Amino acid sequence: MLGGSVDRDRFRGALLGVATGDALGMPVEGMPRTGIEASYGRIREMLPGRLGRGTVTDDTHMTLSLAEVLAETPGNLDQNLLARRFAERFDPARGYGGNTRLLLSEIRSGEDWREALVNLRLPGGSWANGAAMRVAPVALAFCRDAGAVLDVAGRQAEVTGHDHPVGRDGARLQALAVLRALEASLPLDPAAFLDALEPLDEPWQPEFQEALRWIRGNLGAEPEAAVRQLGTSGRASHSVPASLWAFLTAPESVSRSLIKAVNLGGDTDTIGAMAGALAGALHGWEAFPREWTEVVEDGPDGKTALLRAADRLHGLA
Ligand SMILES: [Mg+2]
Repeated sequence: MLGGSVDRDRFRGALLGVATGDALGMPVEGMPRTGIEASYGRIREMLPGRLGRGTVTDDTHMTLSLAEVLAETPGNLDQNLLARRFAERFDPARGYGGNTRLLLSEIRSGEDWREALVNLRLPGGSWANGAAMRVAPVALAFCRDAGAVLDVAGRQAEVTGHDHPVGRDGARLQALAVLRALEASLPLDPAAFLDALEPLDEPWQPEFQEALRWIRGNLGAEPEAAVRQLGTSGRASHSVPASLWAFLTAPESVSRSLIKAVNLGGDTDTIGAMAGALAGALHGWEAFPREWTEVVEDGPDGKTALLRAADRLHGLA
C-alpha cells in the first residue's frame, strides 16, 4: 500500500500513458498480428489510420471523463455524474463499442442511464473490455486503499453495463495492476508483481486465473504464443491479460512494453492503452519517448486535459 508522498509524474504517466498507447494502436485496431506484420512490419511510431496521427479514441475519452468525475467528488464515485460526463464527451467517430454507442446516445437524448441499460443491455451484462480500458484513474483516486480500488472499479463498470463477471473482473484486475505499478519500484520483479495481483476478496473469474498462470510461466514466450494462449479480442479476459503480458515482458522500458502490446494485434488501441497505463504508473510521464508524446492529441480531450486531471487526483492523494 502506498504510504507517504506519491510521485506526481507517475500519476501523469498512468493517464497520459493511456492516450499514448491508444494513439499508437489506433491505426491497426482490429488487425490480426500477422496482418500488421504483413502491412507494417512492426508498429514503432505514431502513424495515421482511420483517424489522424496521434488521435486518441474512446479509451482515452472515457478515461478522462472518469478521472474528472473522481477528482470532482473525492472519496466517492458518482455514477450519475459519470454517465452524464461519458455522454457529454461522446463522439461517435472515436470508435466506441456498439452497445456503448447506443447507450450514450440514449443518455444524451435525456434518458436516465439505468433506464437506458434496461432497454439496451445484453442479458447478464457485457464481458467486453470497455470498463477495463478506462479504469486507471480509479487506482489514482484510491491509491491508499486497494479494497476501494476493486470496489470502485466494479461500480464504474456498471454505468455502461459491463457488469458481466468477466467485464467486471477485467476492470478490477486492470485497476489493481495500475495500483501495483504505482506502488512498485524499479527494477520491477515480474513474479512479485503477479503475486501482488491476488484479489483481496473473491478469486478472479476462472478465465483470468488461467491467463495469470500462463503469464507467470511464459514471460519469455514468443508473441505468437501469447496471442494463441491469451487472445487479443475485445473480451476482457483476452485483452486485459494480453496487455499485462506485454507490460511484464519489458518492464524496464516504456517503449518496448508499448511496442510489444500494440503489435499483438486484435484490439490494439485498447491493449496499448492498458499497457500504457501500467508502464506510465511505473515509470512516469517523463519516461515516454518524445517522438510519441509530441504527437499525441492535445486539447480539451487530449494531453492538457489529462495532465490537469492527473494533477488534480495527485493533489487529493
Ligand atoms: Mg478505442
